[in-house]
Amino acid sequence: MKFEDYKISPKIKSQLKELGYNKPTDIQFKAIDPILKGEDVLAIAQTGTGKTAAFVIPILQKLDQQHVNNKQRVEGVKCLVLAPTRELAIQISKVFQAIGEKLPVVSACIHGGVEQDPQISKLNSGVDILVATPGRMFDLVSQGHLNLKNLEILCLDEADLMLDLGFYKDIEDLLKFIPKKRQTLFFSATITLKIKKLAYSVVNNAIRIQISPKNPVAKNIDHAVVFIEMDDKRFFLENVLKEYDDKKFVVFVRTKVRAERVVAAMERVQVKTEFLHGGVEQQERFKILDRFRTNENRVLITTDVAARGIDIPDVDYVINYDLPDVSENYVHRVGRTGRGMKRGQALSFCSKDELVFLKDIEEYTGEDIQQFELTNGEYEDILGATEDGSNNWKKLIDDAEKDNGNEW
Ligand code: AMP
Repeated sequence: MKFEDYKISPKIKSQLKELGYNKPTDIQFKAIDPILKGEDVLAIAQTGTGKTAAFVIPILQKLDQQHVNNKQRVEGVKCLVLAPTRELAIQISKVFQAIGEKLPVVSACIHGGVEQDPQISKLNSGVDILVATPGRMFDLVSQGHLNLKNLEILCLDEADLMLDLGFYKDIEDLLKFIPKKRQTLFFSATITLKIKKLAYSVVNNAIRIQISPKNPVAKNIDHAVVFIEMDDKRFFLENVLKEYDDKKFVVFVRTKVRAERVVAAMERVQVKTEFLHGGVEQQERFKILDRFRTNENRVLITTDVAARGIDIPDVDYVINYDLPDVSENYVHRVGRTGRGMKRGQALSFCSKDELVFLKDIEEYTGEDIQQFELTNGEYEDILGATEDGSNNWKKLIDDAEKDNGNEW
């Protein structure tokens, strides 16, 4: 089935075409019809599966239909989409704007970290769809700037991360402000007991959709692991980044400090990279992401929380510079590549100490990751090829031998 065959506005169809969406992804195929029919939906789907458009398309269609039917405009917001992070909220909002560009439906995005006044003005001018992070949304509700009394659709995206970030109580509180009779769409990348509890407290008789239940990792990603000593990882990263100098990389490390160190190490060997982590100011984060999106910088070194849910098209490689100690994060990380219909590559650098994480990840995903075998010679060659003179013994010895040779 193609989007052409859906009973949706030609204005939406033409936007989908412009975005290069011809046929629905699995989650879109399963979710669009029930949402159009007004059903509650409980979907387990990871980013990269096309889940954003799976709710954006039918929400836009439904609200556009109200305009077509000349339904009298009710006060306040009609659809609220809650997202755990600012980046994700902005990203979702962009999808609403892109697909809904030709519609009279108004969408807006509010999140913390920036001034409140422009957001209040926007709300006062009339907004149909509001994408928001929980903190700022509550601020605006409690100050009386955000009216949710006539809410028709509530959508929770990445609900599991919302719980991880401690928003359980906020979501519970939200339910007190919004009509009981509404449509609820609940999206989560994973399903745990806690998620189930939350889900069943917000949805009503929901249609359940699960994408790739056995293997949560997107199918269009090739996975490989290479065994590297912890201290040698930067030389291998240098090697890969120089070898594929026209490709786009997201590199995951365990901590903020490590992110900065890896950037410094790459700088020493003339590879331009940038770090993005929770300690970076919001405005700077946007700039970093923009530079990455526009290819001004093609290598982003980041940590788990900072990168979760971010949709950047055309990421060719995800590198797990450090393996995640929580297996679930492997799925989120590799989901940065192979998005939509594209193919992606995920390469993990595994040190001896991380073998236990590798085993956990393989158990979690239910699949062995292909091992990339390097002979001793190949391993040494990569160490020898680095331009980092500070710590490269082989190069120092070679250089010393060369110098000696010259002398003699
Ligand atoms: P998401 O899982 O919503 O973050 O989407 C992942 C990526 O898939 C985004 O870059 C979308 O632009 C892309 N995408 C979503 N739906 C489709 C589709 N039907 N055809 C092609 N690409 C899509």
